[in-house]
Amino acid sequence: MSPGDSAARSAELDRLEDWTGLDPRGRASRAAEIELSAATAGDEAAEMRARLIQADVAERSGDLKASTSVMWQVNEWARRNDHRYLIARSHLLLGRTYRNMGDVAALLEHAVAAVEHLDDTLPARRRLPYVVKYADALTEAGSIAAARERYRQAAELARNSPDVRDEMMVLNNHAYAEYLSGEPQRAWELVEEMRALAAARGHRLDPNDLDTVASVQVALGRYAEAEQTILDAITAYPEGHQEADALPEFLLTLAITRRLQGAADAARQTLAECRSLCEAHGHGEILVRVLQEQAEVYAAAGDYQRAYEEYKRYHLAEKQVLDEQREAQARTRQALFEVNEARQEADRFREQARRDPLTGLRNRRYVDEHLPALIDRARNGGKPLWVAVLDLDHFKQINDLCSHEIGDQVLVMVAAMLADTVTGLGEDSAMAARLGGEEFLLVLCGRGHAETLAVLERLRRRIAAHPWRQAVGDLPVTTSIGAAPAVDGSTQATLLAQADAQLYTAKRAGRNRVRTAAQPAGAMR
Ligand code: GH3
Ligand code: MG
Ligand code: MG
Repeated sequence: MSPGDSAARSAELDRLEDWTGLDPRGRASRAAEIELSAATAGDEAAEMRARLIQADVAERSGDLKASTSVMWQVNEWARRNDHRYLIARSHLLLGRTYRNMGDVAALLEHAVAAVEHLDDTLPARRRLPYVVKYADALTEAGSIAAARERYRQAAELARNSPDVRDEMMVLNNHAYAEYLSGEPQRAWELVEEMRALAAARGHRLDPNDLDTVASVQVALGRYAEAEQTILDAITAYPEGHQEADALPEFLLTLAITRRLQGAADAARQTLAECRSLCEAHGHGEILVRVLQEQAEVYAAAGDYQRAYEEYKRYHLAEKQVLDEQREAQARTRQALFEVNEARQEADRFREQARRDPLTGLRNRRYVDEHLPALIDRARNGGKPLWVAVLDLDHFKQINDLCSHEIGDQVLVMVAAMLADTVTGLGEDSAMAARLGGEEFLLVLCGRGHAETLAVLERLRRRIAAHPWRQAVGDLPVTTSIGAAPAVDGSTQATLLAQADAQLYTAKRAGRNRVRTAAQPAGAMR
């Protein structure tokens, strides 16, 4: 992959993430293509971003279980790889998912986690949606005072944006939050700011903004103005809009303005239109409010019998929506459980790949992954570190004169004695591994020369003194050990080579003995 490809991919992902344009399917299929090319190029982060975009689209179209599971998987990957942006982004989307399932507490948790993981180096425009969503979450959780603080922060971020819609979005969300919190007067001040901003920048309020304005007008009792505003929103509403539930929302607001102006028939007609839209597209949550409004319309006209019938339907529909939300929550918990299970499976596999299957000791791969860090830590902490290599003496004889199986048993037994030594010293100050064949490694941290020598001698004697007779008859089982201390400039390779050289002298001197490199002046003691 050329760096150019990766940069282009990243730029397109930026665009797709921000895309609240008209065509969700185009967005998903483009993301799927990027996922594939990123996978081929080994660009895992881009692959995860592309998957998240597809989950975003799937969630908006109502496929909760699959999308939530992908969001958790990406979150998991991002945390494991310390990828702050994807941690933030996955939390942002998870927040919306939980909100749609009626779980406001989880919404708030995810919204907080999303802003917490935002990088300060991210451009203000890209941080904006996170702060706004956090403010919205605070509003829904009933903390409008805390939300105001965040809307102010968001307004600050949007202030210098070249796109006037950024500033407008903050004002709109804040105005709607005030309206929801029973503060129509404050909401109205923000509506006026929206209008002033639009006039100053030659911009027209979009249908979403107009819906907010209409809601605030209704709350202030300005019903005729509200009706005109929402009619403007419906006229300006484009077909195939991404937020599928926007149009029925507008129609509901329109019906309310008509009822409040005493136009019962017009209100009923609008509601019927809204209701058939809801039924055709499954907007259960809005349907509940439509039924409630229908009851209000009958009640306003004095038709209490029908009002009562509608109230009954309304309660039934409300219960159904709650049941569906509960079911979606249960399915999501299941998805989360499956992601956790997959992670545990991966962890088990990882652990297995770093153990020697015969003896259960750590293997060479584990040593390669951990020894360099131990050496660094010893150097930085000014603590001594010794590396010892152990090799069984005349092991070939045991294989030849007894059997390979007996040879294996001996290896398992010796490994157990090594593991025992580590347990006795404390897992954080010693490490044992099988390097291969009948060769083992022992790393000792924090002990000087004398102490290290004592540990190795004790181990050597213990191996020699073990009652081997039952397994190998008269053959002796002994070990030669060579050890070397870390000094400034030591690496895994130099340390192992020095320990090997000591092992060689131990063998030449007659085996069954410990040889250590002299501790040079530069040794970390
Ligand atoms: P020395 O004292 O010089 O180390 O003699 P040695 O016989 O131990 O030396 P050498 O390295 O020649 O022999 C090692 C033997 O270990 C050879 C090989 O067959 C045996 N071996 C290696 N891996 C295993 C294993 O997993 N199981 C068994 N049973 N034997 C193994
Ligand atoms: Mg050997
Ligand atoms: Mg040997």
